[in-house]
Amino acid sequence: MSNVSISRKIPFNRPFLTGKELTYIQEAVNLGKISGDGFFTKKCHEFFQKKYGFNKALLTTSCTSALEMSAILAEIRVDDEVIMPSYTFPSTANAFVLRGAKIVFADSCDDSPNIDSDHIEELITEKTKAIVIVHYAGVACKMDQILQLASKYQLFLIEDAAHAIDSYYKGIPLGSLGHFGAFSFHETKNISSGEGGLLAINDEKFALRAEIIREKGTNRSAFFRGEVNKYGWVDMGSSFLPSDINAAFLYAQLESLDEIQRQRVAIWRQYYEGLKPLSDAGYFSLPVVPPYATNNAHLFYMICRSLEQRQLLIDFLKRNGILSVFHYLPLHSSEFYRHKHDGRNLPNCDRYSDCLLRLPLYCGLSGEEVEYIIQKIVEFYDAVDSFGSK
Ligand SMILES: *Cc1c(COP(=O)(O)O)cnc(C)c1O
Repeated sequence: MSNVSISRKIPFNRPFLTGKELTYIQEAVNLGKISGDGFFTKKCHEFFQKKYGFNKALLTTSCTSALEMSAILAEIRVDDEVIMPSYTFPSTANAFVLRGAKIVFADSCDDSPNIDSDHIEELITEKTKAIVIVHYAGVACKMDQILQLASKYQLFLIEDAAHAIDSYYKGIPLGSLGHFGAFSFHETKNISSGEGGLLAINDEKFALRAEIIREKGTNRSAFFRGEVNKYGWVDMGSSFLPSDINAAFLYAQLESLDEIQRQRVAIWRQYYEGLKPLSDAGYFSLPVVPPYATNNAHLFYMICRSLEQRQLLIDFLKRNGILSVFHYLPLHSSEFYRHKHDGRNLPNCDRYSDCLLRLPLYCGLSGEEVEYIIQKIVEFYDAVDSFGSK
């Protein structure tokens, strides 16, 4: 391997700009309507409905608000039970906690941070109302099995597709398989508007109510289509729609979606090829992308052997100007929920929380920089070897 030296620091993430964002924002401003559901919001809705076949796509202010909308649409009530992985971001659970639900946490798989669908059925009770899944790193959960359970017990299925834009299960777009799919356009996701989200509504019968909930419980959307001659308060709701300025930014990113994905996948592959020999030798493990799933390169991670080894690696990379990060403190043992959790151990969740490490991945990260990061990881494990603590 050639010796690459890098003079500047490599951040974990850097927002990518296509160059069109400010032009479109200017256009939105010129059009004289910058509140929600303007020109660019409609362009984004059409883009998603056409490209991914969502029955209805509605931009939201975040994935968090899309999840909150889905909890209202699923009519989650006090004491309903909702099954979801513990290894996820708090928003996945919060949306349902806000409606008074009890969260029943499931463990992750042995070979993937996704929910272990072999053990969902034993968590289902009379009170279970919904299953919420997270397609971790944009790699699909085992959907045949999960869809079958949802239908057998007549449960709502909600996809937290925050990582999963432009990724597929057996050729079907993620976010379109459950009743609802919630996407994120937060700065750290593949496609971004700073803060932003999308709710995909896959069953026609929820479409109208979704519009109302998103518009403060009013039938304003129907009014603007000329379907009613005045609008008023018809249901519960909140303000879940983003300004057209955000949508203008997002639309610029959507136009470059293929190029963004191409670049990210190239970086992901370079990491994978470069780190595979060490992984084959047993120093750590790498992501598994099963044949039924695609890889949208949302994030690149390695699973270290222990919490201690991960911390040593983070420190070593940091000393070499590379920022790597870990994530998801288990929700079942969080300060907020541990007293409400039923006490089951979730060992895979704990292992990912302790051992998973994410490497820098963003458009504009150069092949040379990736090479440098790989080289530093190799150096780190050479040193581990020479201390005999492999
Ligand atoms: C980022 C993320 C969210 C929250 O998305 P926001 O758009 O920031 O609200 C929810 N769930 C998962 C799995 C995420 O990674």
